[in-house]
This record gives sequence, C-alpha cells and structure tokens, in this order.
Amino acid sequence: IRAQNVPVTSDYVPDSKFYKVEAILRPWRVSKVSSALLKMGIRGVTVSDVKGFGAQGGSKERHGGSEFSEDKFVSKVKMEIVVSKDQVEEVVDKIIEEARTGEIGDGKIFLIPVSDVIRVRTGERGEMAERMTGGRADMSSAATWVA
Ligand code: ATP
Ligand code: GLN
Repeated sequence: IRAQNVPVTSDYVPDSKFYKVEAILRPWRVSKVSSALLKMGIRGVTVSDVKGFGAQGGSKERHGGSEFSEDKFVSKVKMEIVVSKDQVEEVVDKIIEEARTGEIGDGKIFLIPVSDVIRVRTGERGEMAERMTGGRADMSSAATWVA
C-alpha cells in the first residue's frame, strides 16, 4: 500500500530497460514477501542474510561510542530482484504491502539500473535473458490473449 500524500518521485533516471529492486527487510517478513512475489509471476529472486543499522539500530553506536561494534548491528535480509522497467512499481508496491509493519526497522528499498542480463546456460542477453518462462510478462500476455 503506497502511503497517502507521498508522491512517486522516481522518473527512472538513469533510464534503463532493467532495474534491480534491492530491499533490506525484516527476516521474519521475507517468506511473506517472496510468496506474494511468486504469486505475481516474479520467479527470479536472490536473498542474502545481512546486518546493518538505520534508524532502528545504530543510534546507540553513534551517540555512545567512537567505534561500531558488529554485535549491535541488526540482522536483516537483502532481497535482490531484477525486473523490466515496467514491473518495478508493482514489485515495489507488493514488497511494501507484505513487509510493512509501520514500526521503525521495516527496511528500505533501492532501485538500481541494470545495464544487461545474461543467462549463463544459453548465452541469451537483454530481454531474452531477463524474461522467465511462466513469469510475470507471460502471465500478463496470457491475460491479454484471453481478453
Ligand atoms: P535457467 O533457465 O538456465 O535455469 P534462469 O534464468 O532460470 O536460468 P537460474 O540459473 O535458475 O536462472 O538462476 C540462478 C540464480 O540467479 C537464482 O537462484 C537467483 O538467485 C538468481 N536470479 C535469477 N534471476 C534473477 C532475477 N531476475 N533477479 C534476481 N536474482 C535472480
Ligand atoms: N520480468 C520477468 C518476466 O516477466 C521476471 C523477472 C523476475 O522474475 N525477477 O518474465
């Protein structure tokens, strides 16, 4: 759910055919997010365990000490999802819908332009490599076919 009165400011500069949606999220929300993404036809996702600090963690470190101690970092999960430009907003909206609690520490999403995608098995590049069989683009073209 997009927050009310918050304008969409991204005009996708630098312009790119593909973007990486990089979301740093609460670990216990990740399965909720990934099953919702799968349901909407997002089939390529990379997940890593990470640690960090934002408004939730790190304030102690900044005010209290001169050094960052690693055990004060908060455990998060980083989800990386490369999608075509036209799918960015719906993926971002879905992540917010599934990951948001409204409390400090819900995370952050970064949009990163991706210059190319290469499928190792076939050597395909660009759109051919980014599209997944039965993925979101196939799902929406099937819907158009039926309509
Ligand atoms: P193939 O058809 O040859 O299996 P594929 O495009 O399905 O190719 P995989 O080789 O199955 O790709 O993908 C390997 C890993 O790459 C996945 O486990 C995932 O971590 C990552 N990955 C693939 N596509 C994406 C994507 N669009 N966004 C983020 N990560 C991806
Ligand atoms: N854009 C791809 C498709 O529609 C899906 C990308 C992804 O699953 N990350 O097939």
